[in-house]
This record gives sequence, C-alpha cells and structure tokens, in this order.
Amino acid sequence: MTSFADITTMGVGGEIAHFIEPTTRVGLIEAVEDADSKGLPLVVIGGGSNMLIADEPFNGVVVRDARRLITVPDEAAPVEGQDRTVHVNAEAGANWDDFVAFTVEIGLEGVEGLSGIPGTVGASVVQNIGAYGQEVATSVESVEVWDRETKTTRDLTPDDLHFGYRYSALKASMYQAPGVPAQEFFPTPRYVVLSVTFALTHSAQGTVGYGQLAKALGVEVGDRMDTKEIREAVLKVRAAKGMLEDPTRYALPAMADAKRENNILADLQRLSARNDASGIEPTEDGLPAPDYNRHSCGSFFMNPILPANQAANLPEDAPRFEAVLPNGEPGVKTSAAWLIDHAGCHKGFAVAADAPASLSTQHTLALTNRGKATAKDIERLARTVQQRVRDAFGIELIPEPVCVGVLGE
Ligand SMILES: Cc1cc2nc3c(=O)[nH]c(=O)nc-3n(C[C@H](O)[C@H](O)[C@H](O)COP(=O)(O)OP(=O)(O)OC[C@H]3O[C@@H](n4cnc5c(N)ncnc54)[C@H](O)[C@@H]3O)c2cc1C
Repeated sequence: MTSFADITTMGVGGEIAHFIEPTTRVGLIEAVEDADSKGLPLVVIGGGSNMLIADEPFNGVVVRDARRLITVPDEAAPVEGQDRTVHVNAEAGANWDDFVAFTVEIGLEGVEGLSGIPGTVGASVVQNIGAYGQEVATSVESVEVWDRETKTTRDLTPDDLHFGYRYSALKASMYQAPGVPAQEFFPTPRYVVLSVTFALTHSAQGTVGYGQLAKALGVEVGDRMDTKEIREAVLKVRAAKGMLEDPTRYALPAMADAKRENNILADLQRLSARNDASGIEPTEDGLPAPDYNRHSCGSFFMNPILPANQAANLPEDAPRFEAVLPNGEPGVKTSAAWLIDHAGCHKGFAVAADAPASLSTQHTLALTNRGKATAKDIERLARTVQQRVRDAFGIELIPEPVCVGVLGE
C-alpha cells in the first residue's frame, strides 16, 4: 500500500486508502469529481514537496496526475528581431525541473532561475514558486483548470490568478486566513490544474537576477549570460544549501516514473560527486548515500510581512524589505531564517540530541527528516521553533507547506 511517506520529500505520512494515477485528462477530472461527489477527503498531489501529512492512515482519495507531456504549440520559433515569444504547454503532472531543463535545452529564456525547485508544473502556480530573482508568475500565459465548485473546465489568466509572494487565487481557495484551512477545499485547491501554458522568450541568454547567483557566476546583477550557465550555477548554489530534492527518492517504486530518467541520472551524478568530495561512501546497492538535508519541504516558514508599527519593534539589524500586506497596505517583509537563527535555533537545531528531526545543517529554514522521523517529530520541531520566535520577537511564523492533520489549532 502506498503511503505519504513514499511520495513526499519529507518522507513522512500515513498509508493511503485509495491512490489513483490517471493517465488521461478525462481520467484526472473523473477521479477528482468522483471523490468530490462522494464527499471523500481528497488530496491532489504532485511531487509531494510542499506537503506535511499526519502519520495516521488517510481514509480518502489521493490523485497524482501521471500525464507529463511538454509541448511547443507554436508552429515555428519566431525569428530574431520579431516577436520572440514562444509558448510552451506542460501537463500538470510534468516534473518542474524536467520542464526547466527542456526549455533551457531548446533555447528559451524565462524560468532558468527556477532550476532545481522540486515538484510539478501543476503545483508551481499554486504557490507561485520563486527563487533567485524569478517567479513563475512572470512566465505564465494561462492555466487550464477543473473548477471543483462549478464542475467545469476553465482557462485562468494571470489576472484571474492574483499571483503574489508564494500566493495565488488557487492557494487562496484553500485558506480562510493565512495558515488557516478553509472548510470546503483544503488541502486541494478549488481549481485543479490540468495544464499550464507558459510564454517564454526565444533566447539562449538570460538575466542574472540575484546577488548570490551573480557572486557564484562572478558577474553583476543584471548581466546577461547563457541560460545553461545560469541553470548550472543555480543548481550548485541550491546544492550548497541542501535546497534540492534527494534524487535517490526515485528509486522508490511509487516514484519510479515521476521524473525523466536522464534528469534523474544527471541529479544522481551531481549527488555522487558531492558525496565523493566529502568522502561519503555509496550505499550497498550502488546509489549515492541519501542527503538528509534534502528530506524537507524546502523553506518551512514564510517570510513574515509585518505592519510598519510591528516592524519598528524588530532589532535594528533584522532584514527589512518593502512588501504589501494581505489588506493591500504597505508592509515590511523580514526574514524567517534570520528570526529563527536569532531566536537561538541555529543550523542543525533539534529538540533533543537524539531527535530524528532537525533543522538542516545547511539552512535554518528547512525542517528535515534525518531518516526515521514521523510527522509528529517534524511537528514537535516546528512548534518549538515557532515558540522560540514568538518569545523572542512576538512574531507568529506561518508554515509554507500544506499541513494535513498536523500543526492545526
Ligand atoms: C528541497 C526543496 C526546495 C524547495 N525550494 C523552493 C523554492 O526555492 N521556491 C519555492 O517557491 N518553493 C520551493 N520548495 C517548495 C516546493 O518545491 C514547491 O512548493 C512546489 O511547487 C511543490 O510542488 P509539488 O508538485 O511537490 O506540490 P505538492 O507538495 O504535491 O502539493 C502542494 C499543494 O499543491 C496542490 N497541487 C498539487 N498539484 C496540483 C494540481 N495539479 N492542481 C491543483 N493543486 C495542486 C496540492 O493539493 C497541495 O495543496 C522547495 C521544496 C523542497 C523540498
């Protein structure tokens, strides 16, 4: 029986009563509609890289889209000097980094900075994934969805999607307030993504949009470089922070076809090279040893956006960026990683010396499963970090992952 532990990057979560992998568009809609019409709990899952699910058996339906086609519908690539937009369509189940690798390979600019983010194309628009100066929102032309309320398909435009920082109308449909699930649709949005059409630019060069990346490449922010070089640099910087998924997860039968084989092999080679450099032996079956810093949901807490009066109480050296509050008023974004570190929870922090869950030893913001953790262990760690930050700064950290049966009230 498949469990959430098998299909999530955190590697925790209970057994699943009904696990369905539709291979057609109609099959996907039918699986969702069938669960909804019977009133069964429903999780539409992608790569499971932004979900923390309870240890108890899940007595409902889990649907994972097994369609992974990526196509270029434009008949011919535009010529230089004319409109250089190229549309690429990807089915929701396509692995996100397969998509990025494909676009870079065929000479398109637009998503290279988002290399190495785990998960699927379908979920990329749910929380508007972002990294190194890029967000998926800027490349989305339209999103084809199944609307669970009206029971129709729709094409949503960026205007309909209301993209913001780790936010979209899809995500909003699951919550009544930040971090508070809405009764009706949680933990799967009202709109189930069927496919996404991207508008990318015909160019083998991209803009380096972020300081850390520019430093790694030895250039200035704003410089133009080959997208292939940008992609490799992003993967390197992410690896140094444990912010890639562990490619050894694709050895699990439940994950076998979820990513293109050539890309899994490339990821395994990169991990092997890192392990070799650190003197870490391969496992008995010849795979590189797993990297537990990557057994996470990435950043576990969102960067808080505070009203000006609350931000004024932050210590002088706390990071501050201009931002917009949910009510549309100007606010100040600070860094969750900074708050956690300055509340005394440093890299590698655990609730006890032998605890099976800890902060990543490479990144304060990632909660990690060191091999044998349960969802309860992750929850205990998360609550301890939240409490320390609350005590030190009076700020409530809100988890970024979709938490099911854990970290509720
Ligand atoms: C090591 C690591 C690094 C990360 N780095 C980043 C980063 O740099 N930037 C960033 O933004 N995120 C990052 N993340 C978080 C994660 O990769 C993204 O949120 C990703 O988009 C999740 O995709 P998924 O397919 O795994 O979604 P899942 O975890 O499977 O699902 C997340 C949510 O999306 C919903 N969903 C899934 N598929 C669909 C669909 N077809 N239609 C509608 N809803 C759907 C689910 O129901 C759920 O509510 C990181 C995670 C890890 C583990």
